[in-house]
Amino acid sequence: MSVIGIDFGNESCYIAVAKAGGIETIANDYSLRGTPSCVAFSPKNRILGVAAKNQMVTNMKNTVFGFKRLLGRKFSDPLVQKELKHFPFKVEPRADGGIGIRVNYLGEDNVFSPEQITAMLFTKLKDVATTALQTQINDCVISVPSYFTNAERNALLNAAAIAGLNVLRLFNETTATALTYGIYKQDLPAPEEKPRNVVFVDFGHSSLQVSACAFNKGKLRVLATASDSQCGGRDIDSALAEYFCQDFITRYKLDPKKNQRAYQRLLQEVEKLKKQMSANSTRLPLNIECFMEERDVSGDMQRSQMEQICADTFTKVERTLRAILHNAKLRPEDISSVEIVGGSTRIPAVKGLIEQVFGKHASTTLNQDESVSRGCALQCAMLSPAVRVREFSVTDVQPYAVRLAWDAARGEDGDMEVFPAFHAAPFSKMLTFYRKEPFTVSAYYSDQVPFPDTFIGQWHIKDVQPTAEGESQKVKLKVRVNIHGIITVASASLVEKKQDAAQNDNVEMENSNENVNNSQEAPMETNGSQEQPQNGPDNQEDNADDKKDKSKEKSKKVLVKTVELPIEARTHGYSQQELNSYMEQEGKMQAQDRQEKERADARNALEEYVYELRGKLSEGETLHDFVAEDQRHKLVNQLDALEQWLYDEGEDQNRQVYSDKLTELRTEGEPIKQRRLEYELRPGALDDLSLAV
Ligand code: ATP
Ligand code: MG
Repeated sequence: MSVIGIDFGNESCYIAVAKAGGIETIANDYSLRGTPSCVAFSPKNRILGVAAKNQMVTNMKNTVFGFKRLLGRKFSDPLVQKELKHFPFKVEPRADGGIGIRVNYLGEDNVFSPEQITAMLFTKLKDVATTALQTQINDCVISVPSYFTNAERNALLNAAAIAGLNVLRLFNETTATALTYGIYKQDLPAPEEKPRNVVFVDFGHSSLQVSACAFNKGKLRVLATASDSQCGGRDIDSALAEYFCQDFITRYKLDPKKNQRAYQRLLQEVEKLKKQMSANSTRLPLNIECFMEERDVSGDMQRSQMEQICADTFTKVERTLRAILHNAKLRPEDISSVEIVGGSTRIPAVKGLIEQVFGKHASTTLNQDESVSRGCALQCAMLSPAVRVREFSVTDVQPYAVRLAWDAARGEDGDMEVFPAFHAAPFSKMLTFYRKEPFTVSAYYSDQVPFPDTFIGQWHIKDVQPTAEGESQKVKLKVRVNIHGIITVASASLVEKKQDAAQNDNVEMENSNENVNNSQEAPMETNGSQEQPQNGPDNQEDNADDKKDKSKEKSKKVLVKTVELPIEARTHGYSQQELNSYMEQEGKMQAQDRQEKERADARNALEEYVYELRGKLSEGETLHDFVAEDQRHKLVNQLDALEQWLYDEGEDQNRQVYSDKLTELRTEGEPIKQRRLEYELRPGALDDLSLAV
């Protein structure tokens, strides 16, 4: 069993594996480490990863990309509407308001959800890992942008489930990078010393994420994050493409926007140009042959010009860099280094901005493309019993303030903030309610989230009844940011005080039946609890919220009986039933892909045999003299006919047809090969052969 980490990027994915010897990044079937986040459809199969990207321009309507940003969103979402303008494939609303991606697959129209498309990509990644490692893959850690909300995180988990992946953790991308940094740093300050503050900047294809972390030996604590989900390398590509569109209209009277295919090619070419400009400040050419209306086009640009054209993007970058100082309450002099990762941090202007804001050079300690996947693999190893790695404690944050609302009773407030922005995560808090009947609480984001809907979930607490005396019962809710960064009401329990402990086996000390993961459960008077065992004491305390009964109970060791209450939850994501049906559908598509691959392999095997045998039968070749002349002529004619057939009606037969033909052909070819072999094995055969040739 291997444990893997997956960096699921907007543009490309990386997979890393944790082994006894360390962390390795896995290459795919094209010997590349990056697998494009691209899924395509054909009349015969699905095309995934590199192969999908390679055929994009010729199969635009059925090649899907950019779907990471669609996860968990509604069709009417303004961001989705904005994205749609750039997609050459069809996207439509589903009956439930969700997003449907319409493609032609197996000769029919099919509509898939972004979760399903993501699952297809994960299937590919799982396949790449299984092939490279020659073992079954189940457990993994998948990266997620730190700014993802509950809806997006749930959608991502659903996608992984459809692909049959068991996600031990959704791990924030910049935190994964921080872990990769921390585990290899030998010189971190001792636990009791002042921590070292490091800022991580990940500027990728479609988003910018920054985090500030405090490191000590063996542990890291995320102080804060800042991000711009609408700012990435692709914005630079669009701005450059826009410039050349205007340029071509003026000089060639050609408008690339009128031709999707031409526009996609232009995007690919300006991306190449952008990369060249990172290394080169002189004027660089852009040439595209047979661009539109069978005409070639050319243009040029230099770095300073690009910086002007993309000024908006750089302003946004600067804003986010400054935001991390504010969010983490750090001054530039408090920061010991700024580590950069992500493809777009290769742009000199970005490095310049980092210097300007933090007063120091951007540092490239980490592999810019692989740090996220490596951190995920490390985290996966730490969470899995399968592999042993050095422990490193990670305390993450929950980026948005979260509020809880309920029907107010007895004059209490009906709403409170459970987690302020940048509160430590994972984390559980206990809230106490006094109720005589079932009740409902709901959670929502109170901050400015980059998501149109602030709703997180609603939980109905059932089976609450008044006491025998008609009084309210004490109900404790555990509100939790779980290991995936998902906010949930994890449990509800009724707390009955017992006078006589001896009467009931079920009597327990209060809080002792808390089954927080890896519990380093807080003592009675503490209502907050960090969920990981390795964490330092700095996040332990958080008892601002249990207003009611804390002081009364303080270490009095009252004997109580707790009863778990059933909860009915309404949150984002698929129901088990929907999941099952999507899993079944994915299974069928995998079977179809496998079948098509076997068919293609059988055809190739036949084709190869035809070429090989015919080659060896020709004049002066190895098998020429081992078959009677008339029989050889007959056989060669038969091979010519087979070749013709393969490109004709034999182009598209099922597997059996090819393998039958191959078997038949081998009954002719193999005896000839056998005769030669026997001849070679005779004593002195080699001398004879050299004479014969
Ligand atoms: P995201 O992190 O936004 O989900 P991602 O992880 O797929 O996306 P990366 O692989 O980090 O993104 O970065 C890809 C981006 O980096 C692309 O926009 C690419 O054009 C850009 N990029 C790669 N190399 C260079 C370079 N040398 N100069 C400028 N940009 C580059
Ligand atoms: Mg990335």
